[in-house]
Amino acid sequence: MRIVIIGNGPSGVKAAETIRKIDDKSELILISEEKYSFYFRRNLPWFIAGKFTEEKLTAKKPEFYIKNDINQILGKTVEKVLIKEKEILLNSGEKIKYDKLLIASGAAPITGAWMTLNLKGIFTLRTLDDAKAIKEYMGKVEEVVIVGGGLLGLNMAEVFSEKGFKVHILQRGSKLSPQMFDFEVSNFIKSKLEEKNVEVNLNEELVEIKGKNGIISEIETSKGRRISCQLLLIAIGVMPAIKFLKETEIKTDRGVLTNEYMETNVQNVYAAGDAAQIYNPLKNQYLIYTSWASALEQGETAGFNMVTQQCKKRYIGVPSNIEFIFGIPIASIGSPNPTEETKHKLLLKNELSKGLYLKFVLENEKVVGSLIVGKIEKVDLIKELIKQQINVGKYEKSLIEGEFEKILNEGKK
Ligand SMILES: Cc1cc2nc3c(=O)[nH]c(=O)nc-3n(C[C@H](O)[C@H](O)[C@H](O)COP(=O)(O)OP(=O)(O)OC[C@H]3O[C@@H](n4cnc5c(N)ncnc54)[C@H](O)[C@@H]3O)c2cc1C
Repeated sequence: MRIVIIGNGPSGVKAAETIRKIDDKSELILISEEKYSFYFRRNLPWFIAGKFTEEKLTAKKPEFYIKNDINQILGKTVEKVLIKEKEILLNSGEKIKYDKLLIASGAAPITGAWMTLNLKGIFTLRTLDDAKAIKEYMGKVEEVVIVGGGLLGLNMAEVFSEKGFKVHILQRGSKLSPQMFDFEVSNFIKSKLEEKNVEVNLNEELVEIKGKNGIISEIETSKGRRISCQLLLIAIGVMPAIKFLKETEIKTDRGVLTNEYMETNVQNVYAAGDAAQIYNPLKNQYLIYTSWASALEQGETAGFNMVTQQCKKRYIGVPSNIEFIFGIPIASIGSPNPTEETKHKLLLKNELSKGLYLKFVLENEKVVGSLIVGKIEKVDLIKELIKQQINVGKYEKSLIEGEFEKILNEGKK
């Protein structure tokens, strides 16, 4: 049997590793349009900062691919999946047959039309080549504008400000990292950024970019302000990188639709990671989880199910993110920002003046979301509370005291 995996990020590589643990006979092909073997994409900001060398970014040494008999095809793009023929078509014109296929192609930055302007100094950050280009260009920079106050924008604000650049963030809405933060935490992080000379402009958007001699020189915002800058980073989110699936019968919405077993609607075709939109039985929705840890878990589940004849593994994900912004640890788990329509109860311990914040969102006495600043060591236990739908009605005090082991032990009985 030949198994082909499109994408050598955490989901693709974890799937390959899992497959090899169970099946040492099948041929395993891992394809990536990048010319690098698997690397720590999430550490690219720290590579730009100079805190990580390229060698330290490498996630798997060459011996891993030899030992696991994985044939890597690097620097080639999958242009089409031919379902009837069970083949993929590469940009080189080669066709590769598969018996089973995993789509683990990740995501690509949303850019609007800005990247089509023929000006130097406008960047997105997704790949090692993007990071190298930013690093090389940075020598000429004094002022930076970052469009987007999500996690990537905030990480890069830290990197640029530590380099001594004046940094301006433009954020469309009224809070930073809106899916993760609430207003309290957004205001707290905003004040920390401002202490580091980062200007945070909420409710303000990019409307025009101007250049001189082929290089960006200033931008204009929706409030009519002009900000001089030599580097503009567009960090307004990502979209699953699945355009090679157009005109196939594989069902997609924003991402590739799969069931809890990571199976698509087409037999023998699976999806995992940022490219996949997976059915979540707790929410009765198809969700995209854009995080490193979820990509690993999904890759493992998909790999297992691709080669296991007996019982299949089910993926019930709880979206979660852990971040350090100027050294401040922040974690969001599940849905920490309930909408007004949902009947929910909030449990809150706000000691942000001491750098501590603990918030739980309960629905029908079950935890559905949490936002934490400071003590993030027990995030996995909170995920379990959500996943196992433990009734915490009797344990509200224990919850706010962080006694999650006790609730898990007693709540299951
Ligand atoms: C700068 C940055 C910082 C981040 N920080 C964090 C963090 O702190 N914490 C966290 O949890 N997550 C973070 N993330 C997100 C995390 O890296 C992703 O969620 C994770 O990498 C997704 O893994 P994946 O395997 O789905 O896809 P990816 O890692 O994106 O890998 C997909 C691979 O598929 C290849 N590919 C795509 N299309 C094709 C094609 N047509 N043909 C061939 N190959 C193709 C790509 O080249 C790539 O190698 C960060 C991401 C970035 C960019």
